[in-house]
Amino acid sequence: MLIVQKYGGTSVGSYDRIRNVASRVKALHDEGHQIAVVVSAMGGVTDKLIAMAKEMSSNPPERELDVLLSTGEQQSIALVSMALREMGVEAVSVTGRQAGMITMGSHTRARISTIEESLLQRYLKEGKVVIVAGFQGVNEEGLVQTLGRGGSDLSAIAVAAAAKADVCQILTDVDGVYTADPRIVPKARKIDEISYDEMLELASVGTKVMQSRSVEFAKKYGVKFEVRSSLNNNPGTIVIEEHPTMESVVIRGVSIERAQARVTITGIPDEPGMSGRILKALGEAEINIDMIVSNIAHDGFARHSFTMPTVDLGKAQVALRPLLNEMSDQAEIETEAGIGKLSVVGIGMRSHSGVAATMFESLGHAGINIGIISTSEIKISVTVEEEHLEEAARVVHTAFGLDTE
Ligand code: ADP
Ligand code: ASP
Ligand code: MG
Repeated sequence: MLIVQKYGGTSVGSYDRIRNVASRVKALHDEGHQIAVVVSAMGGVTDKLIAMAKEMSSNPPERELDVLLSTGEQQSIALVSMALREMGVEAVSVTGRQAGMITMGSHTRARISTIEESLLQRYLKEGKVVIVAGFQGVNEEGLVQTLGRGGSDLSAIAVAAAAKADVCQILTDVDGVYTADPRIVPKARKIDEISYDEMLELASVGTKVMQSRSVEFAKKYGVKFEVRSSLNNNPGTIVIEEHPTMESVVIRGVSIERAQARVTITGIPDEPGMSGRILKALGEAEINIDMIVSNIAHDGFARHSFTMPTVDLGKAQVALRPLLNEMSDQAEIETEAGIGKLSVVGIGMRSHSGVAATMFESLGHAGINIGIISTSEIKISVTVEEEHLEEAARVVHTAFGLDTE
């Protein structure tokens, strides 16, 4: 069998952990499998590299940031390979470029465009264990690019898709995907099987056990994968195409996102094109707007609210002020930081009613106030004060019957 495994930062976070990875890989190799192992930088290293860059510049050029950040994974692939060789396994490390990872788009959040035939395939054919640097590739110009935080997940799924792997495993510091982050909701349960769409929604609303773009990629190329622990042999969570029995579960999981902020602008003339201009200005300032609420105009003036990560709040104010002055002398901006977003996700929502009522009622009983609400076919999100966010997650988790006994 051809097996692709990915080990995250915590799983290679110390010399002992690296040896643990090496012995797990050796055991598979001894069984006669072909193995490609994608690894992340040792835990905390990427953050340290970012801090180093910030020492040199308050706004480090992204091209250089990518050159720097990609070194974290280069350290860990060499160390994992050395540990395997110590155990008598023929292992070789390859960088993103040597693995044929061709990227496109912006630095620090590039996308994988193709995977070229490369050293990776040659080494696998020769029976070597190949250790691949996650999180990195090169673009058509030959520049090193990184794939966004958590991007080694994407590297692993891409390697599995390109190599047509029989098995793709994402090994991490938890036993699988849980109904909520077990660090926040101690009664969270491990999910045995989850659809791509649910995993994708959960990942995009803060469940960082998988990078959301990696799930998108897996769905697109039909890569079935398993999330499991690097520290034990318990079965993990299988992520696959949806099948009919999955809809019987209404809510698959609960997720939170911290450090959100709200911007509300009032006194906008109720005329065509105004919202477009506002969103264009925010887009040009590279602000990722999340939730949007527009109230029906009153006395000829409209009111719009947006949420965004708190770090973007300053930029948003700078981008909006001149525009609002241009639009009307009545226009005003009001901001609120310190909010969080709570989301529930499940494909069963399509066929079950009353989900929002259960969520809102349970929060109401707990005395937690809801701000903005947004929904999609399989997700409901609400904002709450950040200080109540974790409690809100536990309350909702209980209300949907997700708690373990
Ligand atoms: P890695 O370094 O292996 O990529 P991450 O730190 O990116 O690992 O992801 C694993 C972490 O994700 C866990 O330690 C856990 O706290 C967090 N997490 C958040 N939500 C969930 C969830 N629903 N299920 C499992 N883990 C979750
Ligand atoms: N080392 C990178 C990060 O910390 C990529 C990864 O761990 O997946 O984001
Ligand atoms: Mg991760």
